[in-house]
Amino acid sequence: MYDLIIIGAGPAGLSAAVYGRRAGFELLVVEQTPMGGGQVVDTYEVDNYLGMPGINGFDLAQKFRGHADGLGAVFQSGRVTAVRDEGAYKVVETADGSSYEARALILAGGAEHAKLGVPGEEEHRGCPTALPVTALSLRRETWRSWVAAMWQWRMLSTFPDSAERCI
Ligand SMILES: Cc1cc2nc3c(=O)[nH]c(=O)nc-3n(C[C@H](O)[C@H](O)[C@H](O)COP(=O)(O)OP(=O)(O)OC[C@H]3O[C@@H](n4cnc5c(N)ncnc54)[C@H](O)[C@@H]3O)c2cc1C
Repeated sequence: MYDLIIIGAGPAGLSAAVYGRRAGFELLVVEQTPMGGGQVVDTYEVDNYLGMPGINGFDLAQKFRGHADGLGAVFQSGRVTAVRDEGAYKVVETADGSSYEARALILAGGAEHAKLGVPGEEEHRGCPTALPVTALSLRRETWRSWVAAMWQWRMLSTFPDSAERCI
């Protein structure tokens, strides 16, 4: 039985893990992706984190994880499929059939962007692309073609310092 289970190892979950460990809690972080980090992993550049201007999202996520690791947070891979409240304790179930118990839970599952379903979308996720808001008022198909064309014309190559996958 853990004091605390945190679902999600994005910035919120990892912050909770750091605070939890500093408060002396025996805690478990359950994360569905191999390394966690959340949305920030797909971020080309984070420029608003105090003291780390322009840091790459992947590097920042690794620092977050290293901080929680260093304080002794325990991590478990798994996609949480159900949470049960048994009164004095809570049960967390994962897709592989495992279950974990704790006196308290923090849900830090974050969010996932809606996908457009256009060619190149997956490969260029997180690359420095600007999509004009006015285009949102276009019909969906027009919007899809416009975005596809934009990638096709390799507008991303106008960012010479982009990661290789962005060019
Ligand atoms: C392209 C992009 C650029 C961004 N740029 C910036 C920026 O420059 N500056 C900035 O401040 N913010 C930026 N953000 C936003 C920032 O990344 C998010 O605000 C932040 O990651 C939210 O953290 P979170 O921990 O709440 O959620 P998330 O980052 O969404 O993390 C949630 C975690 O929970 C896990 N999870 C979800 N469901 C389950 C489940 N059922 N079982 C197990 N694990 C689960 C996910 O796998 C994930 O690791 C950007 C986001 C994107 C996508």
